[in-house]
Amino acid sequence: MDPSADPANSFLASLERPSGFLENVISTCPEGIIANDTRGNIFLYNKSAEGIFGYTAEEVIGKLHAKRLYPPGGAKEVREYIYSPQYGPHGHLVDFETAILRKNGKMAPIRLCCSVLRENGQEIGFIGFFTDISARIALQAKFLESEERFRGIFESARDAIVSMGEDGTVVMANLAAQELLGYGEETLLGMEANRLFAARFAHYWKELSVYASGQGPGNERRNIEILILSKSGAEIPVQLTLAEKIVRGQRIQTAILRDISDRKALEEELRRQSITDTLTELYNRRHFHSLAQNETERALRNRVPFSVLLMDVDRFKQYNDAFGHDEGDKVLRSLGEEIRKNFRTMDTGFRHGGEEFLVLLPETTAEAAIIPAERLRKRFSAIPFLPHPDEEPRKVTLSIGIAEFHPGISIDDLVRSADQAMYAAKNAGRNRTVSHEHLVARSDG
Ligand code: GH3
Ligand code: MG
Ligand code: MG
Repeated sequence: MDPSADPANSFLASLERPSGFLENVISTCPEGIIANDTRGNIFLYNKSAEGIFGYTAEEVIGKLHAKRLYPPGGAKEVREYIYSPQYGPHGHLVDFETAILRKNGKMAPIRLCCSVLRENGQEIGFIGFFTDISARIALQAKFLESEERFRGIFESARDAIVSMGEDGTVVMANLAAQELLGYGEETLLGMEANRLFAARFAHYWKELSVYASGQGPGNERRNIEILILSKSGAEIPVQLTLAEKIVRGQRIQTAILRDISDRKALEEELRRQSITDTLTELYNRRHFHSLAQNETERALRNRVPFSVLLMDVDRFKQYNDAFGHDEGDKVLRSLGEEIRKNFRTMDTGFRHGGEEFLVLLPETTAEAAIIPAERLRKRFSAIPFLPHPDEEPRKVTLSIGIAEFHPGISIDDLVRSADQAMYAAKNAGRNRTVSHEHLVARSDG
């Protein structure tokens, strides 16, 4: 047999011609290089191929059919793709990822570039460049595993987690977020994140987002209390932490939302308790000062009057002494109830301390305040108390002082004036209402 008649041999001979340079390149190339003729006989098999496949060149060249280097069907598939336009032009296979079969019977992932070899226009075989990608595949698997683990944490987190892309739309939302917001994942994904807040927060949300996008550590916004808007339209108080990360070149902002409704409700309850008198359920003296302060500012700004009533139970010491403290408490509770019932909703009653009560009447002159004051006094004095089941019912009366706010006086001055009027009522025989305006008029006149 004439060796020059074999196209593979003439190819090899052509490699040897330029002083072994090409051969040197082939042997030192980090990619496995294998060439075979059209019948599958391997005639080129470099050092790197030995590493990838586990066979030595001696075991392969002229001995092993090329298809034995692939798992069953693998060689056929490669050959088909070489002639299809799917991976590179006709006659070429570019970056095709597949598996090869090693000498030890195990498969290994590779990336393959392959071309038809021609000589004088005639196909004489194929040459393939094999890159071992097992390290990359293993890394990918590890990445997927860690991503799965991350998913697990993400999904089981109690806090709602919502991630947004650069365009401000939601790209990820965990189960807790879906539950908190009331939207399913399909609706949330792609939704404008600013729809998760009431319109009045749109500007604030934008500010937060811009701040969080400032690069560098410490730019995240932490523990910001804000109300989010659920699908049902309910606003839910949350504590928000917003941070930005670059993920595969994309700026992703992630918001962690902790539902603080319970805490807020508790805070509100504590606040309510702190401003409420436990015996009468009216507001306490502290709250009177804060509301009276607001009312003073409003009166000055809008030039509207307001008045206060100060009332004191008449001869209450005697009542307590006669029937006991508990019976006295019943009277105070009953007075609290009457105060709640007898005034407009804009008026507010307070227990000033002991058996003294205040009522704040916005937009009311002292003259006008006499009417509800007198109504309350009469109604209350008509209530029959039964501190002793065997005795006659008892009536309890009130002395009431009224004072109107005037620019330039303080809240303490106002209460002092009402107190003076109340004492004038006591001195005049109790069970009556006196306006400080009348006292002043009388002393002036
Ligand atoms: P006056 O008509 O001058 O107001 O006579 P008074 O007896 O009401 O006046 P005084 O200030 O001497 O007595 C007020 C009493 O109110 C004394 C106190 O025992 C009673 N008192 C204050 N706070 C409470 C309370 O929370 N519960 C009860 N049961 N009594 C209270
Ligand atoms: Mg008193
Ligand atoms: Mg009293």
